[in-house]
Amino acid sequence: CGIVGYIGNQQAAPILLDGLSKLEYRGYDSAGIAVYNGEKIDMIKSKGRLKVLSELTHDGETLPGTLGIGHTRWATHGSPSDINAHPHFNKDESIVVVHNGIIENYLKLKKKLEKHGYEFVSETDTEVIAHLLDYYYNGNPLQAVTKIMHRMEGSYALGIVFQDHPDELYAVRKDSPLIVGHTKGGNIIASDVPAVLKYTRDVFFIENEEIVRMTDSTMEFFNVDEEPIEKESVRIEWDV
Ligand code: GLU
Repeated sequence: CGIVGYIGNQQAAPILLDGLSKLEYRGYDSAGIAVYNGEKIDMIKSKGRLKVLSELTHDGETLPGTLGIGHTRWATHGSPSDINAHPHFNKDESIVVVHNGIIENYLKLKKKLEKHGYEFVSETDTEVIAHLLDYYYNGNPLQAVTKIMHRMEGSYALGIVFQDHPDELYAVRKDSPLIVGHTKGGNIIASDVPAVLKYTRDVFFIENEEIVRMTDSTMEFFNVDEEPIEKESVRIEWDV
C-alpha cells in the first residue's frame, strides 16, 4: 500500500526502508525491497512488519547499490505471504516492479501471458505487470511502459527498474497516488509526501497516466503517447 524508489549517489536500501516507515500509516501486511547491485537486481521481501525486513537486510546493508524500489503491501489478490509480497520479477529477473492498486483485468492478461509461455509464481494481480513488461520490452523501457498502460485496466502506481538501463528509474500512475522529488545527489519517488520530506520539500504530483523517467540528476515526464510534458514542482511548507 506504499511504494518508494530511489536513484542517486547514496545507498538506496536505507532510504527505501526509511521511506517505507513513513508510509506505515497507510497499513500493510508485507514489505520488500529490490536494489540493483551493479550487476543484477537483488530482492528481499517478507510477510510481516518492516522490522522483519530491516532485520533480514541488516538495515539495508545486505542490499548494496544506489538504485532501488520498495513496497509495503496491503493484499488485495493473493494472501499475505513472502511470495505474494512485492517487488515482483519477470522471468529472468531483469525487470522488477512494485505496485499499489488493483489490475482489474489481470486474469485475462494472465491467461494470455500463460499461452505465451509465461509462468506465474505468485497469486497476485501485480505479477502480470512484470510479465507484460517482459512481453513488450525490446530495449526501450518508455515504450514498454506505455504499451502495458494500454493493456491494463484498474488502478496502479508503479516503480520499475530495468536491469539493462541501470541509470534509470521509471514510475507511472493511474488512480493510485504517486509523487516524485529531486534531492541533492538523487531523485526519489513515493506514494505520499511524508516519505520524501527528509530529502526534499519540492515535489511533483504525478497526474493520471503520467510517466516519470529519472536518473540520479534528471527527471523527465511523459504522457501515454511517449510525448514529453512539462510539470511544475510544488513547495511543501508543512511538516509531518
Ligand atoms: N493488488 C496488489 C496485491 O495484492 C497490490 C496491493 C497494494 O496496493 O499494496 O499484491
